[in-house]
Amino acid sequence: MKEVAFLQAIVYNRAVKNYGKILSAKKIAILALLTGLGLIAFLIEALIPTLPIPGAKLGISNVFSLFALVLYGLPEALLVVTARTVLGSIFAGNLSLLLYSLTAGVVSVCVSRLLLLVYPRVSILAVSVTSAVVHNLVQLLVYCGLTGTMLLMSYAPYLCLMGTGAGIVVGLAVIFTVKAVPLSVFHKIGVGNKENSETGGNKLKAKNGKLFFRGVHIRGRKELAENSPIEPLTGTWEVAIPVSQHIGAPAQPVVEVGQSVKRGQLIAQIGGKISANVHASVAGTVKDIAERKDSRGVSGVYIVITPDEKQETDYLPPLAEPTYEQIKMRVEEAGIVGMGGAGFPTHVKLSPQSPVDTLILNGAECEPYLTCDDRLMQEQRDKIVRGAHYLADALGVSQIMIGIEKNKPQAIALFEETDLQVIALKKQYPMGSEKHLIYCCTGRKVPLGKLPADAGVVVQNVATAYAVCEAVEEGKPLIERVVTVSGNGIESPKNLLCPVGAPLSALLEQCGVKEEAVIYQLVMDSVGMKETLPVNVTVTKGVISEFAIADENANLEGVDPAFADGSFFIGKSIDELSKLLNENGSLLNGVGVTVDIVRAAIFALANYEYRRPKVHRDWVKKVKSVKHNEAVKYVAGGPMTGTALTGTDAVVTKTTSGFLLLTAKETCAEEPTPCINCGKCADVCPMKLMPMQIEFYAAAKDYESAEKYGGASACISCGACGYICPARRPLAQAIKTTKAEIGRKKS
Ligand code: SF4
Ligand code: SF4
Repeated sequence: MKEVAFLQAIVYNRAVKNYGKILSAKKIAILALLTGLGLIAFLIEALIPTLPIPGAKLGISNVFSLFALVLYGLPEALLVVTARTVLGSIFAGNLSLLLYSLTAGVVSVCVSRLLLLVYPRVSILAVSVTSAVVHNLVQLLVYCGLTGTMLLMSYAPYLCLMGTGAGIVVGLAVIFTVKAVPLSVFHKIGVGNKENSETGGNKLKAKNGKLFFRGVHIRGRKELAENSPIEPLTGTWEVAIPVSQHIGAPAQPVVEVGQSVKRGQLIAQIGGKISANVHASVAGTVKDIAERKDSRGVSGVYIVITPDEKQETDYLPPLAEPTYEQIKMRVEEAGIVGMGGAGFPTHVKLSPQSPVDTLILNGAECEPYLTCDDRLMQEQRDKIVRGAHYLADALGVSQIMIGIEKNKPQAIALFEETDLQVIALKKQYPMGSEKHLIYCCTGRKVPLGKLPADAGVVVQNVATAYAVCEAVEEGKPLIERVVTVSGNGIESPKNLLCPVGAPLSALLEQCGVKEEAVIYQLVMDSVGMKETLPVNVTVTKGVISEFAIADENANLEGVDPAFADGSFFIGKSIDELSKLLNENGSLLNGVGVTVDIVRAAIFALANYEYRRPKVHRDWVKKVKSVKHNEAVKYVAGGPMTGTALTGTDAVVTKTTSGFLLLTAKETCAEEPTPCINCGKCADVCPMKLMPMQIEFYAAAKDYESAEKYGGASACISCGACGYICPARRPLAQAIKTTKAEIGRKKS
């Protein structure tokens, strides 16, 4: 049952960690209150005429000992039971009650505690029923022992039935009480993670995180944007909001073309068990709802909104004193997803299948160039901390850590002043991977094929915590995020607060693109991988660069004069071009264009100052004027795990951490050469896989062997293998394809 998750999490923490050994004055007061209430229930029960079965009792007073067990632990629960029964027997003037009730109470509390230790995920209802049944049976046993009439044990089945009924009533009473009481009340009585923050925070010095085995050390290149404060994206443009910005089913549009929408209004609702709501990031009119393909080559439905002047908002009502369940619901309503890149719906992560005791905020930001999380941590620390507490409340965990790489000293210093435990992490790629972050922060290992919750941990990005805070306190859905625009092709690298759906062209306009980069708008190569050119890409000067390079040896004999200015190619799709040019001879690199004609075209395009280094080694030698500061590649996300774009037709999504415009010097566009079996890719793989084996079998389309001998499905797509490979093998791409094929076969 979803509603018992909070209690179960508390139970688990108490059961495993024996939390709350110290009897503070606050705790004594709460235990006295529970004892008093239990005593009243005990005395009322004592006044009720004895039930026809010996030892049979309603056991309503057990509600309060169960509360003590759940909230504090075994010693406190025993204290409440003992005080209640001793005082109750004295007040009722019936000391024989003491014998029955004390023995039964103590045994049932101990059995409940044992149950929690053996099976921490047990539901509160099961604990309550077990406790009530044991309570009744022990009373009967004592009665039989005292009277010497074991025949009375024949009543045991009836007592079990009665205990079950009473246990359900008691269990439900506990559950509904917790559901109805705001979390702040629990914090005030010293239960939950605000215990420390009430005293002004731990103010602990950051602890050094562990190191993980393997990985790579990459130049951060964060200096480009790390000192640029977050600024809003300005200008007026249509937003195109994808209905699928998350892992899982796409959201279903709930607006129509022509409809007016306000900022923050729901425009597409959850489309499945794993899915997320989508909201309007600007107020205006819905211009279009249609499928389209972006520069990643990915198709999806977009809701296009033309902004109006008023920009009215339609946020959710703020939550003042939220319960754990209200927080979960708010996270779901606000369409919050993991903002570190994965896009997993956060509300699903808040209902883990295994008990968790730790929340880790991911502030590692290990990808080169990206600085959006760093800036957010420096500028919005308090909201991140409050968001972390809301997340921890929803999970029922008391331990919150934040992992930050040591190359962000300002952020580390700022969080050291909070009640979060700061873990200063060594700069090591891929430190931001969930499994490695968990190990480096806690020393716990997530078994292969398992989830972080199986190690008792939930990981959330710092930007997600920030979004949760805004959703709870301001009712603001996830409609904007900070995006780093960087790379040496960018005039002024910045961190921009952008509405979801904002076009990349608007970001580039605000940051500026270096003049010499303008002619290199479309390039298909990416770091460590070469992608297949989609057939419907329209040819521009840049696309031609994929095939060949300006070459004075191009044979222009017999070539149509239209090639002289390149106009034959421009505006045609690759598909059309391939069909036309295939008739003219051999193919180049399997992309369907003849060598000579491409050379001719490129030669013609060279008149437009087009130069493209390193496409083919022989040709490279002949290119004298290579400019290493020329921008050659757009990337959405970071250079290691991001996606190479074929152009500027891309929009900001909930998971877009950055847009990069990289130069020839920053990226690698060399053609792959045969594997030299150096083993470097395996040496650096943080998942201890055999990337070269995976690629070998993937090339033969033997995906089963790729999994069997290379372990493809355990790959976390970090790209470290492709980065280190001296032969520039397209390892990451091969592994991606293999994983997709394995997934397709399984489904
Ligand atoms: S095989 Fe996967 S996990 Fe290993 S280095 Fe390559 S991309 Fe990373
Ligand atoms: S790093 Fe590259 S060349 Fe070396 S073994 Fe791996 S795939 Fe082969």
